[in-house]
Amino acid sequence: MLRYEEARLVVIAQTRALKHTTKVEKLAVADALGRVLAQEIRADREYPPFDRSTRDGYAVRSAEATQGATLRCAGEIKAGDRVSVPLVPGTCIQIMTGAAVPSGTNAVVMIEFTRREGDAVSFERGTRAGQNIVPRGSEAHAGDVALQSGLRLGFAELAIAAQVGAVELLCAKKPRVAILSTGDEVVPVTEKPGPFHIRNSNSISLAAQVRLAGGEPVLLGNAQDRTGDLGAKIEQGLKEDMLVLSGGVSMGKYDLVESVLQAMGAEFFFDAVAIRPGKPAVFGRCRDTFVFGLPGNPVSSMVTFQLFAVPVLDVLSGAPPRPLPLLEATLTEALNEKPGLTHFLPARLEWQGSSVRVAPVCWQGSGDIAALSRANCFLVVPADRQDIAAGEKVSVLPRADVL
Ligand code: AMP
Ligand code: MG
Repeated sequence: MLRYEEARLVVIAQTRALKHTTKVEKLAVADALGRVLAQEIRADREYPPFDRSTRDGYAVRSAEATQGATLRCAGEIKAGDRVSVPLVPGTCIQIMTGAAVPSGTNAVVMIEFTRREGDAVSFERGTRAGQNIVPRGSEAHAGDVALQSGLRLGFAELAIAAQVGAVELLCAKKPRVAILSTGDEVVPVTEKPGPFHIRNSNSISLAAQVRLAGGEPVLLGNAQDRTGDLGAKIEQGLKEDMLVLSGGVSMGKYDLVESVLQAMGAEFFFDAVAIRPGKPAVFGRCRDTFVFGLPGNPVSSMVTFQLFAVPVLDVLSGAPPRPLPLLEATLTEALNEKPGLTHFLPARLEWQGSSVRVAPVCWQGSGDIAALSRANCFLVVPADRQDIAAGEKVSVLPRADVL
C-alpha cells in the first residue's frame, strides 16, 4: 500500500503525464485573486521610475550634512511634484516620502534627526551616501519579467500587475470538478431525512474544498448504490476536468464505485493509501477526466481531498503543485495509535508566546464532523510511531480553510 507522500507523487506524475491544454480567459486584475496566470507580465518602465525618497526629511549631499552642520533650506518637494531644479551646493531641500530627489542629492536625512529655525536646518546626525533613497530601476527595469506564467495570484502579485498597468490578465479557467455522492441513505440537504437517512453534507464540504483550491464545483447530487444510476451519473461527471465521488469505495457489498468505473474503461493508479482516515481512497482516470473515489465518511473525504485532489487542480491550471503546508508543533498530551498507517487526527493548534502547541480533539472517528469543526488542523502521526510522549515535536497539517 502506498504511503501518503507516494500517493501524492503518483497524483502529480499522472496529472502531468496527460497532455492537456489549459483553457484561458481574460479577467480584470481586481477579479483575479487566487487564479493562475497564463501569460508573462513585464515591467512597463523602470521601478522606481525616479530616484525616490523613502522618508520625510531633507535631500542633501552626504558630505555636507555632517553631524552638527547647518544648511539653508532652498525649497520643498512633495510626492508627485515634477523636479527640475538641482540641489545647489550648501543647501538642502525639504522632501516627502515618495517624492523624486533632485539631481545632486545622494542622501535624505529623516526629519526626526534635524532641527529647523527659519530657513536654517541643522543636522543632529550625519548620513551616508544612498541613505533613504531607492535608485531609479533598482526594483525592476523596463521589460523585466514581473510575473511568470503559472504563478498563483495573491495580493502581492495583483499589486505588481496593477503597478505595471496590466489591468487585464490572461488566467487559466478554473478546472471544473464534478461532485457526486453515493449511497442509498443519502438525501439532499434541503430534504428532511427519514429516521435512517443522512443529509448529503459531503457534497457541500467537497464543493467548498474545490472552491478553496481554485476549482469550479459542478454538483451532480447523489447516486443510489446501483450500477445503473451510478453509471449514468458518472457519465455526466466525465464531461468535466475532474470527478470526485464520495462513498462506495470500501469493502461493502454495495460499494460499487470502482467496479462501475472499471466497466466504463477507467484506469486506476491507486485504490488504497496507508492512512487513517481515508485508507480506501481511489485515484484513476477515465477517458480524459481524473477521478477520485473518496471514502464516504465525512472526515475521510475531507482529509483525502486536501491530501490528494488539490495538486490535480494546480497542474490542470498550469501551476506547480502546492506542497503540503506542514508545520511542527509540540504535542500537549501522550498519544498511542495503531502502527502501520499514518494517522490524521483532528487537533487544535495554539500559539502561546513563541511556542506552537497542538492538542488532539476528542472524536468518535471519521464520521465525526462536529469534532473536526472544533479542530483547526490535523495532527500527523507517522506510521512507524505507535507512542508519542507529551512534549515531543510532531507534524501538523493546518486545515486549508481556517488557518
Ligand atoms: P461509504 O464510504 O459509502 O461506506 O460511507 C461511509 C459512511 O459515510 C457511511 O456512514 C455513510 O452514511 C457516510 N456518508 C456517505 N456519503 C455521505 C455523504 N454524502 N454525506 C455525509 N455522509 C456520507
Ligand atoms: Mg456507501
